[in-house]
Amino acid sequence: MTALIRTAIRVEGVVQGVGFRPFVYTLATGLGLSGLVGNDPGGVFVEVEGPAPAVREFLLRLERDAPPLARIERVTTRAMTPSGLASFAIAASESASGSAPRRTLVSADTATCADCLRELSDPADRRFGYPFINCTNCGPRFTIVRDVPYDRPRTTMATFAMCEQCAAEYRDPADRRYHAQPTCCPACGPRLALRDPAGNALPGGPIAGAAELLRQGRVLAVKGLGGYHLAVDAACEEAAAALRARKHREDKPFAVMAADLAAAGRLGHIDAAAASLLTSQARPIVLLPRRTGAKLEPWAEPGAGVAAATAPGNRHLGIMLPYTPLHHLLLAAVARPIVLTSGNVSDEPIVYRDADALARLGGIADAFLTHDRAIHVRTDDSVTRAFRGRPMLIRRSRGYVPEPVVVASGFPRQVLACGAELKNTFCLAKDRHAFVSHHIGDLENAETLRSFTEGVEHFRRLFDLDPRVVAHDLHPEYLSTKYAVELAETSPEGLSLQGVQHHHAHIASCLADNGAADNGAGGPVIGVAFDGTGYGTDGTIWGGEFLVADLAGFERGGHLAPVPMPGGSAAIRQPWRMAAAYLDADDSDGLEVMRRNQARWPAVVAMARRGVNSPLTSSAGRLFDAAASILGVRDAINYEGQAAVELEQLADPGETGAYPAGLDTGSPFRVRGGDLVQAVVDDLAVGTPREIVAARFHHGVAALIEAGCLLLRDRHGLGTAALSGGVFQNLLLLRATVSRLEARGFRVLVHSRVPCNDGGISLGQAVVAAARDRP
Ligand SMILES: [Zn+2]
Ligand SMILES: [Zn+2]
Repeated sequence: MTALIRTAIRVEGVVQGVGFRPFVYTLATGLGLSGLVGNDPGGVFVEVEGPAPAVREFLLRLERDAPPLARIERVTTRAMTPSGLASFAIAASESASGSAPRRTLVSADTATCADCLRELSDPADRRFGYPFINCTNCGPRFTIVRDVPYDRPRTTMATFAMCEQCAAEYRDPADRRYHAQPTCCPACGPRLALRDPAGNALPGGPIAGAAELLRQGRVLAVKGLGGYHLAVDAACEEAAAALRARKHREDKPFAVMAADLAAAGRLGHIDAAAASLLTSQARPIVLLPRRTGAKLEPWAEPGAGVAAATAPGNRHLGIMLPYTPLHHLLLAAVARPIVLTSGNVSDEPIVYRDADALARLGGIADAFLTHDRAIHVRTDDSVTRAFRGRPMLIRRSRGYVPEPVVVASGFPRQVLACGAELKNTFCLAKDRHAFVSHHIGDLENAETLRSFTEGVEHFRRLFDLDPRVVAHDLHPEYLSTKYAVELAETSPEGLSLQGVQHHHAHIASCLADNGAADNGAGGPVIGVAFDGTGYGTDGTIWGGEFLVADLAGFERGGHLAPVPMPGGSAAIRQPWRMAAAYLDADDSDGLEVMRRNQARWPAVVAMARRGVNSPLTSSAGRLFDAAASILGVRDAINYEGQAAVELEQLADPGETGAYPAGLDTGSPFRVRGGDLVQAVVDDLAVGTPREIVAARFHHGVAALIEAGCLLLRDRHGLGTAALSGGVFQNLLLLRATVSRLEARGFRVLVHSRVPCNDGGISLGQAVVAAARDRP
């Protein structure tokens, strides 16, 4: 008789709510092992008993064959005394009331799986056409979880009692819905309804009725996973224009949902990397180069496809595929792509509560396609694109959050990083996990601030965190900074406050994103942080920065030469003011931008010269603004970064000429961005087409980055350049910069897992705070 051994195994990571226990059950019984498996707040615990080779085989397959949604981070084993019992059992979940630490991870919301889609379209299946079908491998997670451990009573599915059939599946380890917490069916689960703006149910089937309204060109509010969307027929010009007018969203592009890859491919060019992003479990919005047939203005002829008002003047289109059964059914019924944009007015956060939806979207939507499963956490769609075959996240939210960014060097003490002001995220970190939050939004109003504070509390509870270190931006007026300071002041135990300079946080975020922080050193590197606005250590506004940085600190190696911002924040909203500041000329010598703004031009130039209400800035964003205004792209903006976005669209992709910029080689060195602005003026004066001028300006910025990096390489002997800051969302600039630096032999780090814009700041703050906290 073979000697039996018994081994206790602990599995940590995303292992709950992903079918891990039935997987273990099937694996163990298949190998003839006895024992047990269960969830506890620390993850999954297993005991297996049997011959040593079978136990070894079990351990091998445990990691190799884990279920699709599982993310195993650590497996630890311990020898036990064999019990002699022959059965294998699945233990019930323990409650969270015990004192064990909650180390288990909650998984992100996941797109409907192929098995569920098959059942959804099978008339013989009892869930045929049921808009809430899900299983262990797919469905809502983060957006419905109220607490851990992840179990039905702690989700917004708690109010739906399972019918007998669902309960039987839920209890059967051989079933795909074994312990699928949100499982349900038409007999026992949530129900769909189509309502008018007064809340009255509309007659007929909700899906068919909603599809008919869309086809008629009406605006439909649709309750999704993380909030309400507003939808219109993407091909209907009038509907898209009406949606813009009612939403007070003048120009910012809308995203489009297409039924499948083939339909998406008729709107945008999809390469292998983009296809894998579109069809990934996270199902983000993917920015794709638009097909010219997809009604692109002003570069293409109108045609079938997408209304011009969907993404005015943009060469790219944000496209996503259905990620809930409701979306699949709706898209099939409408049989054409639909605009699907955040359900909100102007810049408010996306609406996610039903009563709030009727109140706030009642004046926008003609009807509401809604249901009675509550959304616990407001979560926007994520936005990404492929860059050189790698994902490049622009907004990291639904489908990705709350999975942690793993930072191998870890966090000696728990950290809360409060993030920036615009595109805010916060980050809670402990051990090796940085939990970067969902997209909170611009922390400029009470509603967003409430999302922020509630979000922090929710994450603290979910991941059992009690941060001892609080990191924040240096800007004293950011609401996130004020929150951090107040938290420290009111904490009885005393918290360590860590102010982190904005652009240092950008570069640290890029290092952590690339795993360069994993040895704890993370640098030093040449950090190029180009963005709109960040508070500098000298009290001026930075944004065109060359840093020599590691995680713990930085030196300002160089920057764009500062210029006044006449009118302060007014200069951000009105790019022509930056043109006036850069040109520093009050005579109207035939420049269009002067003529267009002649009434206020002399006063603004005088204001800039005298330094009245004209803070100095080295911002790269403002340099782009000046060029955009002079090129007639726009004198005033409707959303952050708009002038730069449209300048990129204007540029001729085939032109590679670059304007030169002078460099004053002090320390820190200064690059004269004004040389580029003057070159734009001169080139226009000799009749060079605007498209060519815009391209030469972009390549000029790339060239000045190259020059700055070469100078710092000479001075500091550094061979790695990290690119961060929202300006690098500009694909033309990013491509040109990376190519130039690589041609010079630099190792270039760009963002992938967290955004290069301010959405990535909180991760950077967290790793900087940890580096300073390390003994
Ligand atoms: Zn499924
Ligand atoms: Zn049921």
